[in-house]
Amino acid sequence: MSLMSVWLALLSPGSSSSAEDDTESSSSTKWGLGAMFCKRRCLKNKVEEDDFSTDCMSVLDLPELALEGILGRLPPSSLCQMSGVCQELRKRCKSDHLWQSLFQEKWVGIVGPSAFQEWQRQLIEQAEQGAAVEKAPRLWGWPLSCLWPFTWLNLQGPPASSPPPDSLMAWYWALESGSFWFPAQVYNRENGHVGFMLSCYDAELNYDRQTDSFKARYPPHGPRTIVVEEGVRWERLRAPPLDTPAHDLHASDCLADLQPGDHVEVQWRRNKEFPYGWWYGVVGHAETCDGNSRHCRCHSFETVWLEFNQYTLGSRWRRAAINRKSHREEGNEAEGFYGGIRKLKTKEEISIWKKLWPTETLE
Ligand SMILES: [Zn+2]
Repeated sequence: MSLMSVWLALLSPGSSSSAEDDTESSSSTKWGLGAMFCKRRCLKNKVEEDDFSTDCMSVLDLPELALEGILGRLPPSSLCQMSGVCQELRKRCKSDHLWQSLFQEKWVGIVGPSAFQEWQRQLIEQAEQGAAVEKAPRLWGWPLSCLWPFTWLNLQGPPASSPPPDSLMAWYWALESGSFWFPAQVYNRENGHVGFMLSCYDAELNYDRQTDSFKARYPPHGPRTIVVEEGVRWERLRAPPLDTPAHDLHASDCLADLQPGDHVEVQWRRNKEFPYGWWYGVVGHAETCDGNSRHCRCHSFETVWLEFNQYTLGSRWRRAAINRKSHREEGNEAEGFYGGIRKLKTKEEISIWKKLWPTETLE
């Protein structure tokens, strides 16, 4: 059996160790995580060295690359368990690069700079209030210089106490534990409510580890109070692609280049009290153009036609005209207001919208 397979077996439920476990009997002869490390500690005792040095090998005796390879394959919960084994592993398991790659793997698609800034703001607020945080946190690139208490880890529930705030690990667990509401955007908000189909709105998100889904809290929408939606899946979320706040007009930088067939997202709001959502559309042809690419001159016209083909032909929401030279916000109380435009440049962004396409045409 390879050391890796032994290792993975040791990490299976029921066989893992805890900080308490490894203070127990050092005379255990079974293979187990606790046993391995108890034995290693016992090696300091010359009398016991004779008993153990010949029949066991500590994972810390592995070559550096092999040990790093093992740690780099552990899921977050196992990495935390490992951190409780001994000082040396604690130091290794809080390593910046381990948590950075775990973060990239899980959170990078839906957590953007605005979420990190909000977390920073809350930490600073706590620090100022003299809470558990003793000093204001620093920015990315902090050295992970603090040890954290093993009691912080409670894999069956929320962390028993907070990890040091100035660590990537703390950032990871703020998201993972559901203790933090972070800003992101939700496609087809409110369970695909017909009034929001093929749009993406700002919300505050909160992760639920048990269901691997999110609660979304939408800010007040005109006379409507805060709406909370539960059970939002990962595929309906994204990190905000721009840092434009939901009530601000995005300064479009693509107007001069727009031409028929381009995929776009357009800011739209029902009235000026509402926040903008981002609505998916395509650039269409002028009414005087037959759409034949050899004759089409639409790219040189001042008027750009935006099409929202999820709406039926003749619907007032189906087409909207904007002026590519002077466009800011255009619209009225009856049809809503069209704001800034961003052109979609990747197949991935376009394919997400296509996957969300409604099964029925909207009126
Ligand atoms: Zn045309």
